[in-house]
Amino acid sequence: MINQLQQKYQLSLLLLLGVVAVLGVLPFAVIRYLEGNLIAAVIDITLVLGIIMLVVYAYLSLHIRVVSIVIAIFINTGVVVIGSANGIDSFLWIYPVFVSTFILVKPVEAFIINTLAGIALALLSDIFVIVSLDSYIISILMLSLCSFVYASHSAKQFSLLETLNTVDALTGAFNRRAMSVDIKAALATAERNGGKPMLAILDLDYFKAINDKFGHAVGDQVLKDFVAITTSQIRQYDRLYRFGGEEFVLLVPQINEHYHTFIQHLRTAIKNALKTPDGKEITVSFGVAPWLPGTTEDSWLKRADKALYLAKNSGRDRAIFSDE
Ligand code: GH3
Ligand code: MG
Ligand code: MG
Repeated sequence: MINQLQQKYQLSLLLLLGVVAVLGVLPFAVIRYLEGNLIAAVIDITLVLGIIMLVVYAYLSLHIRVVSIVIAIFINTGVVVIGSANGIDSFLWIYPVFVSTFILVKPVEAFIINTLAGIALALLSDIFVIVSLDSYIISILMLSLCSFVYASHSAKQFSLLETLNTVDALTGAFNRRAMSVDIKAALATAERNGGKPMLAILDLDYFKAINDKFGHAVGDQVLKDFVAITTSQIRQYDRLYRFGGEEFVLLVPQINEHYHTFIQHLRTAIKNALKTPDGKEITVSFGVAPWLPGTTEDSWLKRADKALYLAKNSGRDRAIFSDE
């Protein structure tokens, strides 16, 4: 789920860049050709075709980050080549290219790529007999610094937006929106690759009594403790979501034959660590549903919920597996 927004945004920027390349650079290729400046026309056409091919590849493969880096290097190299080969006529392209670099890659990467391109152009171009080298250096440095500040700020805001979109504010567990996206992805992977994911609903036992006895703030703290303890016990790719109230969903993307032991171990670890303010154990009931062929998001949650219902009705503080 993380970075889905960022991916979509980045892809739309790449598509925009493709359109700008066609509308902005292609006419110049034609003009250069008509002027008889074949070298510049060939460089321009190469740039346009290269960008179009890379953008189409990004769209089809979704390898957006890698393609963005390649395009950033490609257009910076292009502007150095055309700037050196065609002199003052093409030199000003360095400004839009430098700004575009900050749209394509991370701010630090853009700054490095731009600096290298700026130095290369300063060394290779012969226009500094008519353009002041000082003005060139200061103007591209100002442009890169302003773009750097703006891009860094924007990246921070994106990361905040991503968190707000996917994380439960109280507990720090992922939220239902993230859960739904991840369940769909896990189902698609299982159907495609034959892996076996597992989903469990975890519900704190007699939680209402904790609220009633110690107050809502203590109840909130118990939920936070539960998430911290559970998260510390699960593996890197296992995910915990707040399903609602004191119910959580655990999604394990790949299980092995020891999944019963894993769940019982997790349940015991939570029971040993999660306490009321007066030191009493807080237990959790689990409804566990390993993936089966043909499982949908709805049927998976229903199977886990049914197992949870059985766990509650047979005394709580236990895990029931839907396949037993
Ligand atoms: P059971 O063992 O059957 O699960 O009983 P329970 O008391 O845990 O379950 P019940 O559904 O009766 O009560 C859940 C309570 O969780 C009721 C609700 O007020 C409380 N709750 C839901 N969300 C929050 C929250 O964000 N903070 C706090 N403190 N309490 C919450
Ligand atoms: Mg409960
Ligand atoms: Mg409940």
